[in-house]
Amino acid sequence: MKPVVAVVGRPNVGKSTFFNKVAGRRISIIEDTPGVTRDRIYVDAEWCGRDFTLIDTGGIEPGSDDVILEQMKAQAELAIDMADVIVFMVNVKDGMTAADKDVAAMLQKCGTPVILVANKVDNPGDPPMEIYEFYNLGIGDPWPVSSVHGLGVGDLLDEIVQYF
Ligand code: GDP
Ligand code: MG
Repeated sequence: MKPVVAVVGRPNVGKSTFFNKVAGRRISIIEDTPGVTRDRIYVDAEWCGRDFTLIDTGGIEPGSDDVILEQMKAQAELAIDMADVIVFMVNVKDGMTAADKDVAAMLQKCGTPVILVANKVDNPGDPPMEIYEFYNLGIGDPWPVSSVHGLGVGDLLDEIVQYF
């Protein structure tokens, strides 16, 4: 069995964009409308000679904050059950939200390595101040990436494969 890496996070943070960047092709649907990834989507990936399976999660329908949070928790539970490494994605454009805090607390307790990724840092030479608030999630240093431009994605993959 290959190691499994699951990407979790709020709708619209850029999970599917990241997934497609790593996959090297467009498999997962990227939409400006949250909730478009209907199901978990899998791809076989490889980095520096290490094979792994990457899972994009989603299927979180727009709704009240409570409804979104419940669905995020369900996705996080599945990731905890299946994954060897969890990529918890937030985005600097929205900043930290209450849902991020709840899910982070849940992931922190699970014993599976969690890598915090701050997406939409499109200018990594000048990371926005917003990135610092993610330290409050208590899961370590946020890795700045721009999934859409591929910036920081290689460094992040280097980090991910260390856990295999
Ligand atoms: P998901 O719901 O978490 O899977 O998010 P998507 O991958 O569908 O992306 C949601 C929106 O964010 C889309 O409009 C993407 O083009 C945009 N997006 C994703 N990554 C980045 C990024 O690194 N920078 C910027 N500026 N936008 C991004
Ligand atoms: Mg998606």
